[in-house]
Amino acid sequence: MTKEYKVDRQVFDDVMVPCYAPMQMIPVKGEGARVWDQEGREYVDFAGGIAVSCLGHCHPVMVDAIKAQAEKIWHLSNVMTNEPALRLATLLTEHSFADKVFFANSGAEANEAALKLARRYAADKFSPDKSEIISFKQGFHGRTFFTVTVGGQEAYSDGFGPKPGAVTHLAYNDLTGLAEHMSERTCAVMMEPLQGEGGIVSPTPKFIQGVRELCDKHNALLIFDEVQTGNGRTGDFYAYQGLGVIPDILSTAKSLGGGFPIGAMLTTTELAVHLKVGTHGSTYGGNPLACAVAEAVVSEVTKPEVLAGVKQREQWFREALEAINAKYPVFAEVRGKGLLLGAALNDEWQGRARDILVAAGEEGLMVLIAGANVVRFTPSLVIGKADIDEGMARLERAIAKIYS
Ligand SMILES: *Cc1c(COP(=O)(O)O)cnc(C)c1O
Repeated sequence: MTKEYKVDRQVFDDVMVPCYAPMQMIPVKGEGARVWDQEGREYVDFAGGIAVSCLGHCHPVMVDAIKAQAEKIWHLSNVMTNEPALRLATLLTEHSFADKVFFANSGAEANEAALKLARRYAADKFSPDKSEIISFKQGFHGRTFFTVTVGGQEAYSDGFGPKPGAVTHLAYNDLTGLAEHMSERTCAVMMEPLQGEGGIVSPTPKFIQGVRELCDKHNALLIFDEVQTGNGRTGDFYAYQGLGVIPDILSTAKSLGGGFPIGAMLTTTELAVHLKVGTHGSTYGGNPLACAVAEAVVSEVTKPEVLAGVKQREQWFREALEAINAKYPVFAEVRGKGLLLGAALNDEWQGRARDILVAAGEEGLMVLIAGANVVRFTPSLVIGKADIDEGMARLERAIAKIYS
């Protein structure tokens, strides 16, 4: 039996590694787009666990899938394969460019696999000197040492000793800069097809097309990090499908499991053969429980009405944010796509995104930020109109309170 005692926020400071600064309240229950804390206070959830809870909290298809699988088998390791993994991989190949899938447990691990595959492919097919990874400033690719080094924020990668080498950071949306820099030494370009953590920055059509052309010209692989944009978030199942540019490798996580940890790297048969037996692996990757949940999530999210619903909800979000801004002008623009939206603060409000997040929390609304100047919204893809209206009413009250 677990001991019955109440844990509070102080316990975090007592026994947890202090790499996070969590809010004071502790959520204990969620249903759809609502969450309740220990005191029974209710919140509207516009954060979705950072673009993870794509079907809201405790959606029946996820609860049914995990219960059913929990009574069959939980874990095998990759010494054997398993039915949920095979079904999920098949689904992912049906709904994307990919022929082959590697399962991991997180976005960083999916990216780690993508980068290792790119390096291995270039070394096998061309030369070990073809090792340069190009990525973009403000980009985010996870916290393992390789992925955080490829990410474009030195604040995250500095201070841990020597970094993995041959990584170059260029400016996002600067095609000329990329064209001038790229060479036969370039192994791969890794990018988010819409920068999330970096402030909700979309690629220009010219840039995204140009990156693909430059990769082809220099025999470099194009890796799309769709950890945040994937699984319906932008209104397409994967964001690349709305951009008319197909990557060679795609990483996916966050919404893939709808709240259960899972990540995956998707690629073609031609590339996949370079990760032959023993070259890469994961104990938990492809775990039956994780794959059973993700299978239920993907089956739901790929329904045309769910994807169309994301575009409808984007409209509702944009209209409501504009209405708030008409009364209390704090935003310069609302950017992003689908339900990966960022309200960028205007000149007078620079640096105050966190103030809005805190005020929203006090009004019973969970939002996110992306840097100091962007309030970010990544709610459930199936959030109801009534929940959006209620959340926006709370956001308006929060902004009214600090507006002066
Ligand atoms: C969140 C995120 C990651 C890291 O995912 P983890 O599951 O935290 O390892 C990588 N890339 C992008 C674009 C992300 O948004």
